[in-house]
Order: sequence, then structure tokens, then C-alpha cells
Amino acid sequence: MKKISRGDCERLDDRDPLAGIRERYYLPEEVIYLDGNSLGPVPKTVPGRVASMIEKEWGENLIKGWLADGWMDKPLTLGDRLARLIGAGSGEVVVVDTTSINLFKMLAAALRLRPERKVILSNRENFPTDLYMVQGIVNWLGQGHQLRLVDEDKVVSALDGDVAVLMLTQTNFKTGRVFDMAKITKAAHEVGALTIWDLAHSAGAFPVELNAAAADFAVGCSYKYLNAGPGGPAFLFVAKRHQNSAEQPLTGWLGHDDPFAFDNEYRPADGIRRQICSSPGVIGLVAFEAALDVIDEVDMTQIRIKSNILCDIFIDLVQTECHEFGFRLVTPREAGVVEPLLRGSQVSLVHEHGYAIVQALIRRGVIGDFRDPDIMRFGFAPLYLRHVDIYDAVIHLRAVMECREWDDPAFQERASVT
Ligand SMILES: *Cc1c(COP(=O)(O)O)cnc(C)c1O
Repeated sequence: MKKISRGDCERLDDRDPLAGIRERYYLPEEVIYLDGNSLGPVPKTVPGRVASMIEKEWGENLIKGWLADGWMDKPLTLGDRLARLIGAGSGEVVVVDTTSINLFKMLAAALRLRPERKVILSNRENFPTDLYMVQGIVNWLGQGHQLRLVDEDKVVSALDGDVAVLMLTQTNFKTGRVFDMAKITKAAHEVGALTIWDLAHSAGAFPVELNAAAADFAVGCSYKYLNAGPGGPAFLFVAKRHQNSAEQPLTGWLGHDDPFAFDNEYRPADGIRRQICSSPGVIGLVAFEAALDVIDEVDMTQIRIKSNILCDIFIDLVQTECHEFGFRLVTPREAGVVEPLLRGSQVSLVHEHGYAIVQALIRRGVIGDFRDPDIMRFGFAPLYLRHVDIYDAVIHLRAVMECREWDDPAFQERASVT
């Protein structure tokens, strides 16, 4: 294999149609940030927009802001903007609550639509909060529902007439492997099951095609590849055909058909609005809005193409520069540009000293993260990473290994957030 040089990466940066977008984010000079899959960086317009919302809208307009500044409708207006990125239609997405809470709502709604069935099917490799939310709802319902967990390559064969809901995270958070959403949704529908897709590591990372796949429900978060800030508001999707039959249990006043009638009887609003429970957290929504302004300027296909190049360069360079250090690639080598996609926008390497190696890299300013038991995870967000960043990161990785920098007592103790 011909070795990739730093010059090759510089030339790719010169020709990169997304190169100018990097300027739009705060990124510390000395940092190579490969953890945007956990928490995206701050778009430069966010502090000003949030300050202006507080000073001008809240400060001067006070309660009039709910209408005058569009606060009340932001969950819907932002949902419509987000729809483009995930292949949904207008009126199918709303920005509310958190991913876990939205999962609870979608699970409850989907189970209500399949009352005679008792199985929720998912895969063992799914993100724990998703599985915990199922366990919570099963216990709380007390109707003999059961979580059926299988290995990810057995999902389709585990579908049968008992399955009410198939709940999957499209992109595996540890390995970056992507499920074929269209094929699996079709298989679920063939046995009469509904699907809930978690897009946490998909939204903003590559083009998602919910309606092309005939997906039923979806959830996702805004603080990873969408850069809306820590704990930023999450989103949910309900396909048009289910909207007036999907009943979620958090029947707060803002999902009411006429909240300001202050009626004592709950009557769900039509459409996606019944998925809202409470007054929206406007400060978080404004930050998300500013973050979307940047993403709205770019074409998701360009993001996908660049993401594949960044990941491929990293994989090739680890092979050529670090082959003697025993890293094992657990991310699919094949990626895909159009559906079906096989890999997200991250690369994961397994190494027995993975935790300490990640800490040593962080000390050098190369920020990735670690997932139990031995996975080093590197996210490649095309909006702000340069090709040379990938080259430099691998050279740092080689130095950490050559000089055994990971073998430092300070790196042996696990922190509470990894
Ligand atoms: C990050 C992530 C979440 C986050 O859930 P919160 O409720 O926002 O804390 C949920 N599911 C998956 C698959 C994730 O990757």
C-alpha cells in the first residue's frame, strides 16, 4: 500500500468544498477534536444568539416572547428544519425533551398500536439507555411484555408475529456499524411489527432516509453531530400515517388540542404536536437553531463523502504507521455513500491498554474517547475536521505507542465520565 503523506492530506484540504465551514466553530488551537460524536463543538454564533435571546427577547419582550419571538413554535419549526437531514417530511419531527424520554414516549405509543403483541426486539449491542427505557416501561406496564435481545446479525431472523416493536439504534455507538434501515424496516413490517430507530450517532453524521425506509418512529439527540450543546433538546419523528393514532402517555398541556382553553379533560392535538408535553426550553432551542444554521448551508452528500475519506485515511494510516502495536479495527472497512450505508462517521480500535492510550492522546491534545471494555473511539465530523488533523492524530498515536506514554500511573485509574 502506498503510504499517505501529510502533503497528500494538505492537498485534500485545499480541494475540500467544506473547508470553510471549520471557521464557524470554536476549536482550541492545540486540540485535534475526535469526539464530536459525543459532544459537538460550539458554533461561533451560539453565544451571541443565546445572549440576544436573553437580553432582547426575554429581557425586553418578557412574556410576549412566546408569540412575538416564536418561542412556542420552536419545537415544530426546528423539527421541520431537522426533517431535511433525516429524510422526514414537514410536520413529522418535533424537537423536545431528551432522547431517553422520547424513547419512552415512542415505545409507549408503539405498544399501544400493537396491543395483542408482547415482545420488544432489540440487539445486545444497543446503547444501554435504550435498553433501560424498555425495561422501565415493561415493568411499569406490568402486562407481561418482554425485551428480546439478540446479536445484531440475528435481528431479522428474530422477527416473528409476537414482536410488537423492533427498536434499534441505526449506528452502533461502539463500533460505528450501521444497520440497513430500509431492509430491516421492511422485514419488521412483513411480520406486522413497528420500528423505532434511534438516530443518536446518525443525525448530522450522514444522510438518513426515514421515509424512504418507511420508518414508523424515530428519536435522536442534538448534542453529538448536530452541535447543539451539552444536554441540548432531543427530537422525535412519527410517520404521518401514525400521527393521529399514536398516543403517548406524557399528556402535558402543550400536547393538548387547545392548551389555552384550560379544559380539565385531556384531548390530544392532531399531528405531531401531541408528542409535546411541556413548555419548551427556549434557551437550548435557540442554541440548536444557531447550530442548524451552519449545517443548513451544506449538502449532506458532501458530508458523507468527506466522512468516508476521513475515516479511510485514519484506517489506512493506522495500518501503515502503527501496524506493530496490535490495534484491531472493529469498524466496518466498507462504508457506502448511498443507502445501504455500512459505517457511520467514527472509527473504533480495540487495544488492551485502550483506556490509558486514549488518556495519553488527550494529554497530547488529541481528544477521542473510550468505551468499555477495550474500545478506543474516534469520531470524524466532516464539518470541522481537516484531512491533516487525521494525519497528525495518527502520528501522535504512534508516538504514544513508541514512547509507551500510556504506561503512566495517572492513566490507569478510570474517570467517572469516559
Ligand atoms: C447518546 C445516546 C443517547 C443519549 O440519551 P440522553 O437521553 O440524551 O442522555 C441515547 N441513545 C443513544 C443510542 C445514544 O448514543
